Amino acid sequence: MTVRMTGGCQCGRIRYTAEVDPETAYLCHCKMCRRATGGVSTAFVNPLRDKVVWHTEPDWYQSSPIARRPFCSQCGTPLGFEFSEGATNIDLTVGSFDDPTPFRPEHNYATESMLPAWADVTHLPGYTSAENPNVIERWKAAGMAPPE
Ligand SMILES: [Zn+2]
Ligand SMILES: [Zn+2]
Repeated sequence: MTVRMTGGCQCGRIRYTAEVDPETAYLCHCKMCRRATGGVSTAFVNPLRDKVVWHTEPDWYQSSPIARRPFCSQCGTPLGFEFSEGATNIDLTVGSFDDPTPFRPEHNYATESMLPAWADVTHLPGYTSAENPNVIERWKAAGMAPPE
């Protein structure tokens, strides 16, 4: 079932509204996405292009002869992926949505490039941001509350 959701880049210059099915997200493990996002994998959802409204036109990077990627040239946030020709759908990065919590991955893609050490990290010890006094003090010195 599709729902209307909003998102955008870190600095707020690029904003979008998209009708997406949050149950159909996936992880791309390909090396192109790894370079484009700096992440070990990239979480995407793939709505119809005509169900995505850019309130500000994003910048586009022609990442290969067959595809281009929307991003913000001011803050650098990777926003998605689309084929240059004949695309009916577009990938949007799950992390660029204002509320990514409803998204559920339903498959992995480009598994030949998957980095298995990062596939399941739930067994590792975890620390909250509030447990890092170095960061908390820096935010306080800047007169701000630490972001989540
Ligand atoms: Zn930005
Ligand atoms: Zn990819």
